Amino acid sequence: MGKKASSPSTTYYNWRSQLCSAALFCLGLALSPHALAATAATAATDATNASAATEPSASEKEQVAAKVMARQEAMQQVLAQGSKCVSNAPDDYNGKVWQIGTDNAFAPFAFIDAQGELKGIDVDLLAKIAENAGFKYRMCSQDFAPLLPAVAAGKLDGAMAGISYTVPRAQTLEFSKRYYNSAVAVVAAKSEQSQLQSIQQVMGKTVAVKAGTLGEDIANGLKEARQFTVKSYPNSMASMLAVFQGEADFLLEDYPVAVYELTSGLYSNLMIVIPRLPNVGNSESYHFVVAKDNKESQQLLQAFNEGLEKVIVNGDYKAVVAKYLPEAPASVFVSGNAPVEVKATAAEKEAAAVQ
Ligand code: GLN
Repeated sequence: MGKKASSPSTTYYNWRSQLCSAALFCLGLALSPHALAATAATAATDATNASAATEPSASEKEQVAAKVMARQEAMQQVLAQGSKCVSNAPDDYNGKVWQIGTDNAFAPFAFIDAQGELKGIDVDLLAKIAENAGFKYRMCSQDFAPLLPAVAAGKLDGAMAGISYTVPRAQTLEFSKRYYNSAVAVVAAKSEQSQLQSIQQVMGKTVAVKAGTLGEDIANGLKEARQFTVKSYPNSMASMLAVFQGEADFLLEDYPVAVYELTSGLYSNLMIVIPRLPNVGNSESYHFVVAKDNKESQQLLQAFNEGLEKVIVNGDYKAVVAKYLPEAPASVFVSGNAPVEVKATAAEKEAAAVQ
């Protein structure tokens, strides 16, 4: 360990232990100081170690599984306390309070910290946007899988949870202007690195994904042609454990979340083999969403877009991202005072048409 690898993921985002500490906070876990000290990029991509990364022994696997289970349990205990909410509306406020949903385990964008508080880039950013646009809201956390259906069904006025734009989602949801540029990464055993240069070229693999995510959509989209078996898990830890234990060959996960999980130092034989899937198009950006074709929702969406523009101009936006990701590269920020509108790429339109 310790040698800097020069694989693509090292040169892509280089978010170091800040991300780990943000997410760590979220799960209320005690990882070793050693893991915290390690850079995410080194932990994730020390390709020079690939040959040393022989298949973990059965007892090593058991130990990791036990540690991950303990983390899962710690997280479950936090989640069992129920949904956590934040609001900028005074208790006696009589006007409109928009009901917004978010994820409870998507650090550093939205997560419940060790103190049981709802935290993250999306949580702080919405506060600033609402302040600048002058609206009142209550934001509550929940599992991701039912979140977007709840917005589409009008059970929530909106959602903000690192939500990627996809053409199928755009049939029932309306997307705000983009507020963050992310990426979908592929994580696998180091020994798979040479085989997995492109997931469009391998056959018969088992893919682990988080339920309800873009990663799940991508895996399902490739399933038939590549003869993949897709296994859905409730969160990243579970899908990463599946790959570690050989239940799946690789997982698809948003890049910052994958970096965090690998920074925990538990999965010595795993790495980010592809930091950014190509051809994901506009799905790399994160957006606030409301229900489509709904007059009231339109008001909220418009207010969000106006507020976003203001916080980009006044610097609040960059300050919020920097608070959680001090080393975020320029490429993750939406630029200038005119955030890019969403347009489906030709490939996305084509994919939507065959669904
Ligand atoms: N960006 C991914 C998606 O929109 C994952 C979001 C999440 O897990 N909160 O599907």
